[in-house]
Amino acid sequence: MEKNASMENMKFERLFSWGPPTNEETAAKYAQAGVTDIIVYSEKQLELATKHGMRGYWTCFTPEGPHCQVMNEEETRHFNYINGKDLDPAMPRDERLKITSMRKGEKNHRYGGEMVTDIDTLNDAEIKCFISDDDLALTRKKLDRILSTAPDGISGIYMDYIGYMNHHGCYCENCLAKYKKYLADKHLENTTENRNDFYLEQLVGYYNHVIDYVKKQRPEFKIVIHAYPDFKPLPLYGNRIKADYCGQTVAWYFQWPEEKIQYYTKFVTEHSKDYYPHVEGIPFQGVNTNSNISLGYKTPTDVEREIRQILAAGGKTLMVCDGPSIIEPGYFDVFRKYCGKESSSK
Ligand SMILES: [Zn+2]
Repeated sequence: MEKNASMENMKFERLFSWGPPTNEETAAKYAQAGVTDIIVYSEKQLELATKHGMRGYWTCFTPEGPHCQVMNEEETRHFNYINGKDLDPAMPRDERLKITSMRKGEKNHRYGGEMVTDIDTLNDAEIKCFISDDDLALTRKKLDRILSTAPDGISGIYMDYIGYMNHHGCYCENCLAKYKKYLADKHLENTTENRNDFYLEQLVGYYNHVIDYVKKQRPEFKIVIHAYPDFKPLPLYGNRIKADYCGQTVAWYFQWPEEKIQYYTKFVTEHSKDYYPHVEGIPFQGVNTNSNISLGYKTPTDVEREIRQILAAGGKTLMVCDGPSIIEPGYFDVFRKYCGKESSSK
């Protein structure tokens, strides 16, 4: 009980938002809610962020490659089913969403978060096979475009969707050939463990090559990531990535038990410097305020309970997606209470 009493004045020092300030009103609200770091997609949004004392980050980099990732037959069938690939393309959008949302619920789909079934695949985002991007040819082109358009005053960039659609790996011909060579070079057998090690190495290697490339051109740029989608063999692998601010999920959209939230928060914050001393581990919280879709829904009370659990476990910073949920009625008050800079009389 002592602990709860002393928690009353605890606040996060920093709040990262995945939603941009779209106009004067939302920018002011984000700032009041305590957002310190925010994604922006235009010079106007950067202006708004800066005016309200927030650091702006220039758009979101997602992986590049010559083709989409390849899954096995069963995973492909699952992907096509939950995304309604069999439905008439002319079907009205609402009707289509209703069906795909129902199918996602039926399959216990977790939207890229930790799987709760034997098979789960990502919702509609088709991630490129970054392993096949030899010498990062396509990736560099994309990064060059992002960096060359970044306006003055930008603090860095966000990165997302660097991972595997099936939470395990990509099985295109190129990836399988690279895996075969990896086994031969290291004199290893083809086992699940070795395969997982290979795909983890490729994943972390890609992240770090991309980050090195950005830093070489813009050393002052900070890299903000959310390690997503989940890598099933090792959910908390994010500390191997040399991002300045490494968001790792400690509370997913589908609500996790308190013990899990606390364990993950402790791990994310206490082990963030195991590989690179400059990395800050940022606890990530998924918040969806729409109860009509199959993505897990949280009330403001749910959000507050989780926030208190993260704080109690030692979290000092927070990252939230989707961003606009931070400034929605009810939720806004919760974030202002635990992240806002002005001392509110509770
Ligand atoms: Zn591949």
